[in-house]
Amino acid sequence: MIQSNTITKELDVYAIRQQFPALNRQVKGQPLVYFDNAATTQKPQVVIDALVDYYTNYNANVHRGIHTLAEEATAAFEASRDAARQFINAASREEIIFTRGTTEGINLVAFTWGRKNIKAGDEIIITEMEHHSNIVPWQLLCEEKGATLRVIPQLNGELLLDEYKKLLSSRTKLVSVVHVSNALGTVNPVEEIIKLAHQAGALVMIDGAQSSVHLDIDVQAMDCDFFAFSSHKVYGPTGIGVLYGKKHILEAMPPFQGGGEMIKEVSMLKTTFNDLPYKFEAGTPNIGDAVVLKAALDYVSKVGKEKIRNHEKELLAYATEQVQQIPGIRIIGSAAEKVSVLSFVIDKVHPQDIGILLDNRGIAVRTGHHCAQPLMFCFGIPGTIRASFAMYNTKEEVDKLIVGLQKALKMLL
Ligand SMILES: *Cc1c(COP(=O)(O)O)cnc(C)c1O
Repeated sequence: MIQSNTITKELDVYAIRQQFPALNRQVKGQPLVYFDNAATTQKPQVVIDALVDYYTNYNANVHRGIHTLAEEATAAFEASRDAARQFINAASREEIIFTRGTTEGINLVAFTWGRKNIKAGDEIIITEMEHHSNIVPWQLLCEEKGATLRVIPQLNGELLLDEYKKLLSSRTKLVSVVHVSNALGTVNPVEEIIKLAHQAGALVMIDGAQSSVHLDIDVQAMDCDFFAFSSHKVYGPTGIGVLYGKKHILEAMPPFQGGGEMIKEVSMLKTTFNDLPYKFEAGTPNIGDAVVLKAALDYVSKVGKEKIRNHEKELLAYATEQVQQIPGIRIIGSAAEKVSVLSFVIDKVHPQDIGILLDNRGIAVRTGHHCAQPLMFCFGIPGTIRASFAMYNTKEEVDKLIVGLQKALKMLL
């Protein structure tokens, strides 16, 4: 039996939905059901308003001007850096580098720290459940340096830590691990992974693209050396993200791109570089979106991550239970610790066909390999159907998904 109960004790989902204008639109004549939140989240009105406000009232280049607009833009840009510092509990604002997103954050570390520190014979460890953006930069680096990429295997969506321990050695220079899998929802035990890596003398990079929106992030308690996340997955704008690095490590790293802003003094013979974090922020940054990131982070903190998490957990449990009752459906990834990502396959049915039929009913899910082809290979499947839930989703919407799946299967089988 399908039961509906949209109001949890904790979170007023109806009130939250009012704040996301995109949720009011119709798709194919039906109210939108947006279950592609692991790809990107919709934006609350405060975020949209903040972007309009910036371009309407104080658009100017940062750090260089002495006029009022430049001062206001700079203040807002730097306030956003402070908000990001607080959001992940970094020790200092110098450790917060604005990037285009998680992908650029990882590439920055590979390009600068990696180029300087990785030598022939060294090893970098990743996992089987990485997003392509935490695989390819390390493959490129290993190829260039004659280093070796090692991979921690997983079983049913959980990393095999005993295998990880066997991979660690004095050759290990870096361990780069996804905190939460975008394809399966698994929450990885990063604290233990980091501790073991440090004991082996390796640094650790955490891909926080998915964890930053669901979990409370404390980079100091976690003790990671680098942490990257993207604004657009935390209800903020696209085109901006954050790379965190421990100060002493960032200080020892060569710059990323060269240009304005990242320099102290330039002569034709020699250039001295700017202090952190500006050393890694060459050129005019994405000021507008950086400014707006603060509005998004403040919004999430105001609603309360724990409340959001409890609500999403409830949705995941409900959706998991409902989906399991449909014959022929197999859930992919059954880790004990999961966030609100539900990935599944259906016997004899191509995920894409389901995706199209669901879209006809206004339901947005993701189908395919989710930028994690090696992981799909492990499961022996080309891809999955993925429904990923956010703070504004309801049990009624899950019910619509279930009905949509049942109708689709009737047509396809
Ligand atoms: C989305 C995602 C990325 C890449 O983030 P971008 O915003 O596309 O740079 C990396 N890792 C994971 C786990 C992701 O979900």
